[in-house]
Amino acid sequence: MMEIPFNSPYLTGKEEKYLADVLRRRKPGGGGPYMAKTASLLEDRFSLARVFMTPSCTRALEMAFELIDLKPGEEIILPSYTFPSAANAAVLRGAVPVFAEINRDNFNLDPDDVRERITGKTRAIIPVHYGGVSCEMDEFMALGKRYDLYVIEDAAQGVNARYKGDYLGGIGDFGCYSFHTTKNYISGEGGALVINSPDQRLIEKAEIFREHGTDRARFLRGEVEEYKWVGRGSSCLPSDLQMAVLYAQLEEMDRIRGMRREIFEKYYSGLKEVLDHPLVDSISSVPEDRDVNYHLFYLKFTEQEVRDNVLGRLQERGITAVFHYQPLHSSPMGEKLGYSPGDLKVTEEIAATILRLPLFPDLNSEQVEYIIDNTKEILEKF
Ligand SMILES: *Cc1c(COP(=O)(O)O)cnc(C)c1O
Repeated sequence: MMEIPFNSPYLTGKEEKYLADVLRRRKPGGGGPYMAKTASLLEDRFSLARVFMTPSCTRALEMAFELIDLKPGEEIILPSYTFPSAANAAVLRGAVPVFAEINRDNFNLDPDDVRERITGKTRAIIPVHYGGVSCEMDEFMALGKRYDLYVIEDAAQGVNARYKGDYLGGIGDFGCYSFHTTKNYISGEGGALVINSPDQRLIEKAEIFREHGTDRARFLRGEVEEYKWVGRGSSCLPSDLQMAVLYAQLEEMDRIRGMRREIFEKYYSGLKEVLDHPLVDSISSVPEDRDVNYHLFYLKFTEQEVRDNVLGRLQERGITAVFHYQPLHSSPMGEKLGYSPGDLKVTEEIAATILRLPLFPDLNSEQVEYIIDNTKEILEKF
């Protein structure tokens, strides 16, 4: 029997060389040359106005809320079907996360449901690009414009994917990337905040905030003679050790994307026939009008019982399939915020019936075939 993990971080081979370089120069702190190189690589490759590297995507979301001065009692609208980062970033400021529904096609935030939840207190919409498949950004940008709201893309899973030609993270007022070890390009922990808004004050505020509320960035450019504490701030620079690892990954981002694509396509062609099975609802596919990054591959069943059963049987055969997310609104913290199970029906149905297969660049053909064959066999016996 094969033992196949759910995920295994991929290394290009250059990581050690760049790490050794940082250590040899004894400059592992933040704001080093690898941070500058990763930020400009992302700006150039994705045509982004300005990128601030951060220690995580969560930190980037927190920075975005600081920059828009999100206040206690104000609201942000986001999907319940996601990771808690953006909701926490709001809660930490005394602001209110308002959970909206996702659509059944690609499990992304539903613009119609978002519109109904906009109130006088709403400040921002957070489209989360689930699995690296873009949200309907035109609709969210139109809502942002019409109701004077910020659009902050949670593109944690959306690095190197596009919507109508534009790279994700580069469409809203802000975009947030993750380079966590479970994502497509990794630095262990890591992230970036993209500022697309033409408002120059946001850039100045970000430069000050990320360096402890000081004007050190201006000092380094020779614009002031010494740097001082000038405003609100925190510590948001990633270590150059992290950025050295990330630089090695980003240099080869298209090769990595190609490896993921190959696995995704094998899964798709091997498994599309299970769509005829009465208990299978849908499987991952690439929407015709989207350019994706092959972050994940899922199967969705008609009932939770089937999902749990298939998952258990795959595990018995050494295949680590998983499910996610426990919806935020029906989690213990969601209940503390006043939500109850039953509030978001589509979200709950999808969370209960989805199963994710292993997908990482090192997964070899033999393993992919083993997973496809076993999945089909388990379903045939149903
Ligand atoms: C992974 C993830 C995050 C958190 O990213 P970190 O870099 O670990 O902070 C946030 N949102 C989504 C949708 C994610 O998938």
